Amino acid sequence: MNTSQNKVCQNCKNEFHIEPEDFEFYAKIKVPPPTFCPDCRLQRRMAWRNERSLYKRTCDLCKGSVVSIYSPDKPHIVYCDNCFHGDGWDPLSYGMDVDFSRPFLDQYRELQLKVPRLYAFVFNNVNSEYVNGAAFNKNCYLIFVSDHNEESMYSYSIFNCKNMLDSLNCSESELCYESVTCKKCYRVYYSQDCNDSQNLYFCKNCVNCHDCVGSVNLRNAQYVIFNKQYSKDEYFKALKELGLESRNSLAELKSKARNSWPRFISKYIHGLQNKDVVGDYIFNSKNVVRGFDSELLEDSRYINFGNKAKDCYDGYVVVDNCELSYEVTSAIALQNVKASYCVWHDFNVQYSDTCENSNNLFGCVSLRKKEYCILNKQYTKEEYERLLPKIIDHMNAIPFKDAKGRIYKYGEFFPVELSPFAYNETAAQEHFARDGQMAKDAGFLWRAQDVKNQKAEISPAELPDTIAGIGDDIAGKSIGCEHEGKCNEQCSLAFRITPDELEFYKKMNIPVPMLCQNCHVCRRKKRQRFVYKRARAFP
Ligand SMILES: [Zn+2]
Ligand SMILES: [Zn+2]
Ligand SMILES: [Zn+2]
Ligand SMILES: [Zn+2]
Repeated sequence: MNTSQNKVCQNCKNEFHIEPEDFEFYAKIKVPPPTFCPDCRLQRRMAWRNERSLYKRTCDLCKGSVVSIYSPDKPHIVYCDNCFHGDGWDPLSYGMDVDFSRPFLDQYRELQLKVPRLYAFVFNNVNSEYVNGAAFNKNCYLIFVSDHNEESMYSYSIFNCKNMLDSLNCSESELCYESVTCKKCYRVYYSQDCNDSQNLYFCKNCVNCHDCVGSVNLRNAQYVIFNKQYSKDEYFKALKELGLESRNSLAELKSKARNSWPRFISKYIHGLQNKDVVGDYIFNSKNVVRGFDSELLEDSRYINFGNKAKDCYDGYVVVDNCELSYEVTSAIALQNVKASYCVWHDFNVQYSDTCENSNNLFGCVSLRKKEYCILNKQYTKEEYERLLPKIIDHMNAIPFKDAKGRIYKYGEFFPVELSPFAYNETAAQEHFARDGQMAKDAGFLWRAQDVKNQKAEISPAELPDTIAGIGDDIAGKSIGCEHEGKCNEQCSLAFRITPDELEFYKKMNIPVPMLCQNCHVCRRKKRQRFVYKRARAFP
């Protein structure tokens, strides 16, 4: 088709646009055009990815204790790493015949509830039990989607960092606190988009700077406060007067800095070395539409957290050379994979979940090194190729219909009600926050929070203004969250500070926080990416 087309989203009923290039892509990978708009498709994919909700539970095979992304009350069978990758079970023993009298995805759901699943996504971490989406970390605690870090806590998407706390999207940095999208930084606090810098507070887009406060767009600068140059002596005198160790002063400085940011010129997107891209936080990419937090994308659209992907559409976390793939979540090294979740080193795979080093799978769960399987049943190549078009026709003739009446024909991602996770356990909640009623109204699962019987021993109002007034005995005590559960951020009402965390605050002279982790993360992570068409400011 060489004209664009407007369609009404089956889910939100808003109009969305399909371009001629999109039709070409859909034809190339042999799927019909989508019936959900791009945002609804993204939420649907994100609602399958539990990144941060961890629970203590037992492995259903060896009965050992694990920290898992599956709460103990989930209906799924969950195995620890050893059991999942061991020889004590055979995923093909759960194989099912295709029943052409009822929707295929109904049968997939049945299979999904029978076949054991991997407890979490962790690999080669040392002394770092409470992490997920994490590999090669040492002595880390509650870090997520993060690799190759040491002694870091409460952070998301950090890579090759050391001693980081409460940071997001940072790499090759050390001793940073509450910093976002910083690279090669040292002792950078409450700052954003800074590179190769040290000793910064509340700075934005500073490169190769040191000892600056509240400043924006600096290059090779030092001793600057709110974009005003000081001598070295004046700077340190002024710094003392700012009272950076006081929670109250920090709050004032933070709002002063944030309020000043709009006065400065911003580059139209955050990105470098791109050609023909529309998106944000995108690097070394070519011919991309709506690519976010990504690098090395080519001829791709609607990708969040992509790295090395070519000819891919609709992906959330798509890395390590994915090609010709569509509607995938948690995807590593794929060729021609569609509508799948947690697929690694696969080709010609569709509607599959947690399958690795496999090819030619359709509707399979937890398979490794397999080929020509449908619903975990082994076929010959000839049988598989004969059945496949029949199943696709069947998915269109008797499609899955969810509780909200939405129709899932061949080509759509898995329905949200088949997600193993509740909306508020997943990345969807952090990018598109909803309350329980809103989520249920939209057909998502919702998990009531565990009732925590932790009465706060210390109320946030009792916390001293600086770390100096805090004794070592605060570690382990429960502190009430300032939000008191009145927010929409999964507030856990109370929280505890670990001894390592307390040591960090003392070393950095930072007051202890007044918010629980969930509230903290939500505040920091409210970062749904947008692109706007705007007129040029200057003719
Ligand atoms: Zn929509
Ligand atoms: Zn086990
Ligand atoms: Zn809270
Ligand atoms: Zn809150």
